[in-house]
Amino acid sequence: MTERPLLFIDVDGPLNPFRSAPGRRPSGYIAHTMLPDSWTAMHGGGTGGFQVRPLTVLLDPAHGPKLQALPFEPVWATTWEHEANEWIAPHLGLPPLPVVEWERTHFTDPAGLHWKTRALAEYAAGRPFAWIDDEITPHDTDWARERYPAHCLLLRIAPELGLRDGDFAELREWAEAHAPVA
Ligand SMILES: [Mg+2]
Repeated sequence: MTERPLLFIDVDGPLNPFRSAPGRRPSGYIAHTMLPDSWTAMHGGGTGGFQVRPLTVLLDPAHGPKLQALPFEPVWATTWEHEANEWIAPHLGLPPLPVVEWERTHFTDPAGLHWKTRALAEYAAGRPFAWIDDEITPHDTDWARERYPAHCLLLRIAPELGLRDGDFAELREWAEAHAPVA
């Protein structure tokens, strides 16, 4: 049996449309208040007598079943890292997923790639993959097309809108065309 392609999933942007305008939130989303440890640490750890403001995260519970119905093996590819399994997955009805652990984040790549791009190619190790993220640029897409040794789909998701039905359809069509499971 052929392995399924990997699906690298970013949280903020695709699952959490954090740029959607207040009052114009796409339908289906529920606002959750979260205070993950990494967020607290990033904002001073709540020391010095001030309280860290919790994060508001918008999530659509329908996204979990829709992701699981795709012919992929999902993997978290987010700065939430393992906290995605703790804070995000339960609201979507997803089981704990494997996690890409970053050696470094938010650095400037010499070729202008996103800081995740090379790490994801390395993780996928020649296996077909798709990647959904709000920060993908044509540099990443071109680099992956020229350099990655298997099929891959880099799909930019607008952070104003999050994942939409058309994106799920595109992922499915791509997988069926380029990474069919025998
Ligand atoms: Mg993002």
